[in-house]
Amino acid sequence: MSHPTDADCVFCKIVAGKLPCFKLLEDETTIAFMDINPVNPGHALAVAKGHWPTVDVIPPDVLANVARTAQRVAKATVRALAPAGVNLVQANGPAAGQSVPHLHIHIMPRRAGDDVSLNWTPAPGDMKEIEAVAGKLKAAL
Ligand code: AMP
Ligand code: ZN
Repeated sequence: MSHPTDADCVFCKIVAGKLPCFKLLEDETTIAFMDINPVNPGHALAVAKGHWPTVDVIPPDVLANVARTAQRVAKATVRALAPAGVNLVQANGPAAGQSVPHLHIHIMPRRAGDDVSLNWTPAPGDMKEIEAVAGKLKAAL
């Protein structure tokens, strides 16, 4: 199946077999492999084979396939590693912490008390502001 590629993209190079990876699985539209900078042992990535940078531009069916692959890896993580928890994380844009602009979902095993800092402390919002932003989002759906 043909898909968009970017010759300078590290994940496109992995998909094309031009860079090595510790591959977990692949199917027609997705691939999963180990992250080489793991936050905890078992940190893996579910990746679209095609080069779509972010969630707002990837075709919905491919995104659904990446989510399915992430779930398969998460289930294997639970079975094989019995972590205390698992985070699925998907970043879009540098401000959101995205360093590789090729859509992927992190599967991160968590240990109690680990120092992985992606949690925030919930604090009550301004209901008027929440309502106003909800209105903008609904109008854009
Ligand atoms: P993000 O910052 O959400 O875009 O995540 C990109 C992830 O890709 C980071 O966690 C990197 O450690 C990981 N990464 C970068 N290059 C490679 C590579 N060659 N093989 C495996 N993982 C990689
Ligand atoms: Zn790419």
